[in-house]
Amino acid sequence: MLLSRARFAAVRASHNRLAQSRLQPASRLASSQRGFQEWGTLRERATRWLERRRAYRLASSLASKWWIRRPLRAGRYVVLGGVLFASGREIGSIEYANDPVAKERELLEAVIRSAGGVRASVDGLHAIAALPPTKRTKRVDARVQPVVARCVAGARELARRRLEKAKASGVKRDIDEAQALVNKISRPWKAVVVGTPDGGLPFINAWVTALCPRTVFVTEALVEELDPTPDELALCIGHELGHLVCGHTEDRIYLKAMLAYAELILLAFLDPTGLLTLLGAMGFQNTAELFLAKYSRDNETEADATGLKIAALACYDVRRGTHFMRKLSEATGSRPTSWWATHPATEDRYADLRSSSLGVHENVYGSHCTAVGKALQRLVTR
Ligand SMILES: [Zn+2]
Repeated sequence: MLLSRARFAAVRASHNRLAQSRLQPASRLASSQRGFQEWGTLRERATRWLERRRAYRLASSLASKWWIRRPLRAGRYVVLGGVLFASGREIGSIEYANDPVAKERELLEAVIRSAGGVRASVDGLHAIAALPPTKRTKRVDARVQPVVARCVAGARELARRRLEKAKASGVKRDIDEAQALVNKISRPWKAVVVGTPDGGLPFINAWVTALCPRTVFVTEALVEELDPTPDELALCIGHELGHLVCGHTEDRIYLKAMLAYAELILLAFLDPTGLLTLLGAMGFQNTAELFLAKYSRDNETEADATGLKIAALACYDVRRGTHFMRKLSEATGSRPTSWWATHPATEDRYADLRSSSLGVHENVYGSHCTAVGKALQRLVTR
């Protein structure tokens, strides 16, 4: 005997254990196969049960028709998009409702940072440690605040005149719109001076955004580099207020959302395989950009015209103010208007503003700024 009886028994037991352990995966496989088979029969049974129902037969025959299947799919995309939009809106509203002051500050900081700003000066914002204003910010602030205050008074006068005109016409829709504008503009306003990093490029800009309504942002560089006179600065501020008066900032956001919906519907209709999605999205993106650029250029022209009226109603000399555009063109260069440009060429804007400023000055300044303008100036710059 090669092995003792006891040793032989031990070896055989160990072999058996090994064989059993090798067998186990196979038995597991068999049981999972059994599971699949059971699931398969269950599904077949359920399908057979469903096929006996008339409603199911009707639904599946309808779903086989492309003119029903595709609108259904498009509808599903739209509903999904709507649900996502509504959820985002609700989350934003909840955050705002919980702490409006903190949310406003957060939005303000986000706008300043996204524009490349590092510090800012505005009532109450000094408390933000990350954005402490420097001497330069305060110096620019002292020049910007009075002009914004007077231009806001000019914008309020413009809104008041529109309401008067609407009331005279008696059209309810016009009256409601004009009243909404008066309400929007009569609330408190802010002017924020934004500083850029030391040693960075001089960042010449002024803007308004729907995220911070009734807030005008002006960069330090715009004032320090262009050195505008109050009349010139009023033309720039008037233009920005013009965007808010015309509702451009909100319109742009809604337009973008609508374009995104249109893209969803088109893709749901035209892309049965899913392969065209990427190409389609890129092509649509370009078309949308082109459309938004044209929309933006039209808005700029409208804001220029409204801005002239606002500055004139604030009793600034808009004829002299138009030199702001010349200074801007010299400092930043004027590119010819292209299909993709969001702004018309600065040179063209300068020419348009110069020609229309004469009429605006004559119509507004002469009749409005003799007594009222002086009173307004005293009120604001006291
Ligand atoms: Zn603009």
